[in-house]
Amino acid sequence: TQKKKMSLTGRVILGMLLGILTGFAIRSLFAETSFVHEYLVNGLFDVGGAIFIASLKMLVVPLVFVSLVCGTSTLNDISTLGRLGGKTLLFYLTTTAIAITLALTMGNLFQPGAGADLSAATTFAAKEAPSLGDVIIGMFPTNPINSMAQGNTLQIIVFAILFGIAISAAGKPGERIAAVFADLNEVIMKLVALLMHIAPFGVFFLMAKLFTGIGLDAIYNLFGYFVVLTCTLLIHGLVVYSTMLKVFTGLSPKTFLKKMEDAIMFAFSTASSNATIPVTMETATKRLGASNRIASFTVPLGATINMDGTAIMQGVATAFIAQAFNIDLTMGDYMAVIVTATLASIGTAGVPGVGLIMLAMVLSQVGLPVEGIAIIMGVDRLLDMIRTAVNITGDSAVTCIVAKSEGELDVNRFNDPAAGEKDE
Ligand code: ASP
Repeated sequence: TQKKKMSLTGRVILGMLLGILTGFAIRSLFAETSFVHEYLVNGLFDVGGAIFIASLKMLVVPLVFVSLVCGTSTLNDISTLGRLGGKTLLFYLTTTAIAITLALTMGNLFQPGAGADLSAATTFAAKEAPSLGDVIIGMFPTNPINSMAQGNTLQIIVFAILFGIAISAAGKPGERIAAVFADLNEVIMKLVALLMHIAPFGVFFLMAKLFTGIGLDAIYNLFGYFVVLTCTLLIHGLVVYSTMLKVFTGLSPKTFLKKMEDAIMFAFSTASSNATIPVTMETATKRLGASNRIASFTVPLGATINMDGTAIMQGVATAFIAQAFNIDLTMGDYMAVIVTATLASIGTAGVPGVGLIMLAMVLSQVGLPVEGIAIIMGVDRLLDMIRTAVNITGDSAVTCIVAKSEGELDVNRFNDPAAGEKDE
């Protein structure tokens, strides 16, 4: 008889919970100088977690490049690509604008910063937000190998699309190259599937290390900020996406969210949309039923330019800091916040903590003290985890919507609860 094994999702959740518990246990039982910290926390957990993140990241560049070349090499006319790109950008920008508007509304409604304690003040240097022109110029690689070496997703996307178009236009040689890429894509997806097997351990190490050191005291001081931000993230992640999915595709939001579980957990434990790309891709294609042609374009693009959770953080944090410093923002300031946060999110990759850097740009844009960031930094890691989960949920929701509208979503696969659960 076959023993019933726990599903991968179940094991990842277990790894996460055990990790959190272990972290808390170590924190309360052992002094920081103890052997437990030396050998377990800074030894095994640190090394194990770092290897896990490294192996996820290792897959990103080959996966994005190969799958996108595959996707575009089967497009036989350029107008499809233009339509696809236009739709995707429209949805990404609209969801981000909704996100930040919702955040500013919540931030002003609940006033989390009124009467906040401003004792923590260190200096924080803000970079200028990139201009739209710079963002666009920066998308074009001068040396594609260099783009790949640096993991510059936007440049890789541009090169892969051009390469794919050339393949589809190159006749017989193009067909041969396309076949090689199709095979390569299979192999890389296999690699992703293999990596998923060590995920429960990786997640355990990451969580155990993080929760041994995480400063939760700050949450007491920043309770209002934490709660308002978390609620806004939840509303956006649960209500906004579900409504959009229902309206534009008629598909069940419940099924969607259930199938997002793995990707959400990866995003949560890595706090990086970029590192989660392999899992988001696998979820979008194998579980949600989007075609590789759509997902290979929308997912990596989304991980780079579509960060709704991060935009929400910009909105709530700006409102919070303005209230804490007793500064009134005008309607024009709010518009500036929306524009800067959206541009900054296009120009920055989804890696841990990048939201704080974007916030510095947004604050200096509207003349708020950038030192305000020092106040909220203490709780940022936990919020980063939650907003990254929202970021990739948004990417996947838009992927489903765009795929459905192009007739490239396999509805049976979407509705089949077992689809893509292949680690039995
Ligand atoms: N960590 C986020 C992401 O990768 C970005 C951020 O908000 O810091 O999507």
